Amino acid sequence: MRASTNSCTICRRRQVFFFRPYSGQRLCRNCFTESIEAKTRATIAKYRMFSYNDRVAVAVSGGKDSLSLLAILAKIEEVKPKSALIAVTVDEGIKGYRDEALRIAKKSCEKLKIEHRVISYKELFGLTLDELVERKKRKANSKLTACAYCGVLRRRALNEAALRVGATKIATAHTLDDEVQTVLMNIFRGDLARLAKEKPVTDYVHPRLVQKVKPFCEIPERESALYAYINNIPFQATPCPYASEALRNDMRNMLNSMELKHPGTKFAVSSSIARLQPAIEKTLAKADFGECAQCGEPASSEICKVCEMTREFA
Ligand code: SF4
Ligand code: ZN
Repeated sequence: MRASTNSCTICRRRQVFFFRPYSGQRLCRNCFTESIEAKTRATIAKYRMFSYNDRVAVAVSGGKDSLSLLAILAKIEEVKPKSALIAVTVDEGIKGYRDEALRIAKKSCEKLKIEHRVISYKELFGLTLDELVERKKRKANSKLTACAYCGVLRRRALNEAALRVGATKIATAHTLDDEVQTVLMNIFRGDLARLAKEKPVTDYVHPRLVQKVKPFCEIPERESALYAYINNIPFQATPCPYASEALRNDMRNMLNSMELKHPGTKFAVSSSIARLQPAIEKTLAKADFGECAQCGEPASSEICKVCEMTREFA
C-alpha cells in the first residue's frame, strides 16, 4: 500500500510537517527530530570525533545551534555515560546582548544537569569587546571589524576555558551553512592556509591547543533552528549588535539563493572542499607551532595574534 503524499516519508503514518528539498523527504515532527539526532550521531562516528575517555567542552553561546547541539549531546551522553560533558560560554562583554544569552545558557544547562562555566574577555584580556570597540573608534588606522578581533579573542578564550576544565575536545555548533560560508570567504580572500584548516575535526598541532570538533557540520542551519523550535529549546534570537561582517552576509545570501534554485548546493560545496583539502595542504609550507614570546601560548609566529591585538589597545 502506498503512503499518501500527506504522510511522512519515513514512518508513513504521521502528517508531513517539513519538506527537505535536497533529499526529497517529507517528514513528520518526530521523524524530523530523530533525523537530526541520527545525523549528529552519524557525523560524530564518521569523523571519529570522540574517543572513549574524552571530556568534552561544548561551546554554548545561548543561540539556537549551540543549545540544540548541547541537548543532542546530552542525549548521546546518556547512551555513553563514560564520556563527560561540560558547557562553556565566552562572555565577550557586549552590553544588552551577552547578558541575556548567558541567562538562557545557564538555565538550559541546569535543565540538562550539565555543569556550566563562563570565561570573560575582561578577565583574560583586561577589556570587554565593548571597550575594545570604543578604543578602536579612536584609532584612525584600525581597519579590522569588531568580529575580526572577537574571532581571535574567542578562539583563545574557548581554548583557555577548555584547558581549565580539563577538556580533551571542544565541540562547537558550526552548521553546514557556517562551514560553507567560511569556505567561500577563504576562497574570496585567497586565504588557502585557512581553507586547508577548516575541518570537522581540527588537526592536533600543539599540546596546549585543544582539538575542536563540529558535530553539526552536515546539518543545515535552518534545520538546527527548527530542531530547537519544535523541541521547545529556548534560545536567544536577537543578533549581536556588531554582527555586520559584510563578506559573510554576502556569502550567506548567495548560498541561500543558490540552494533555493539548486537544492544540495551547500552539501556539494562542502564535499568538494573536503576532497580538495589534502591537495591544498600539500601546496602549503607546514606552519611550525611554537610559543608566543610574550604570553607563552601556542603561536605560529613570534608574537601571537592575541598579543598583537591587545597590544594595539593597551
Ligand atoms: Fe563577536 Fe562578531 Fe559574533 Fe558579535 S557577531 S559575538 S562581535 S564574532
Ligand atoms: Zn601571545
